[in-house]
Amino acid sequence: MSLYRDEGVVLRTHKLGEADRIVTILTRRTGKVRAVAKGVRRTTSRFGARLEPFTHVDVQFHTGRTLDVVTQAETLRPYGERLAADYPRYTAGSAMLETADKLTVAEKEPALRHFLLLVGGLRALADGEHEPRLVLDAYFLRSLAVAGYAPALETCARCSAESVRAFAIVAGGVVCAECRPAGASVPATETVALMLALLRGDWASADASQARHRTECSGLVAAYLQWHLEHGIRSLRHVERV
Ligand SMILES: [Zn+2]
Repeated sequence: MSLYRDEGVVLRTHKLGEADRIVTILTRRTGKVRAVAKGVRRTTSRFGARLEPFTHVDVQFHTGRTLDVVTQAETLRPYGERLAADYPRYTAGSAMLETADKLTVAEKEPALRHFLLLVGGLRALADGEHEPRLVLDAYFLRSLAVAGYAPALETCARCSAESVRAFAIVAGGVVCAECRPAGASVPATETVALMLALLRGDWASADASQARHRTECSGLVAAYLQWHLEHGIRSLRHVERV
């Protein structure tokens, strides 16, 4: 019997049989783990409530032939309880869990930076020091950077020219007049500056931003994330087939 211990954040769960669940946990050392939690849907379960999405848990796993099995779970921080009371924070947190799940494609492949970003993002949401939308956009931008998709925000994504004006998702960020593809948007200079502040963790600048620039920033970041998740996953499937 092979046991191992790790801490992680529960990303999602789904039902298995009558009383069990499969839980997907992004762990600090092991990366993403899908494991069976036996009997957790019974009211008498010892650790059912600890294996809910958002919870930062200390877990012991037993290595199984197909799926590992959770044998112990202790709550470190119940972020779910603190986020459930506030709808904007809860939805931002849900989007973080889903993004972490999609960006860590392979199971049991260490993803320490993704884990740290997720824990930091959930803590920032729960602490409530910054607007949830800003916390979420910072999380998106930094997760994309860790995954290798950081948008160019200072010089042209295609030719590195310093004079940039438009933002083009397909080009990978801001572009100069020469490289600007059809359909590129022209965000306010302050919006691009806000994206850069969020990517760098410059909260003094981000918190001082205006609502209209936050709205424009959120729109661009969401579109950029969506494009990379779809294309990232598609290209990865292609690699696996080869
Ligand atoms: Zn250019």
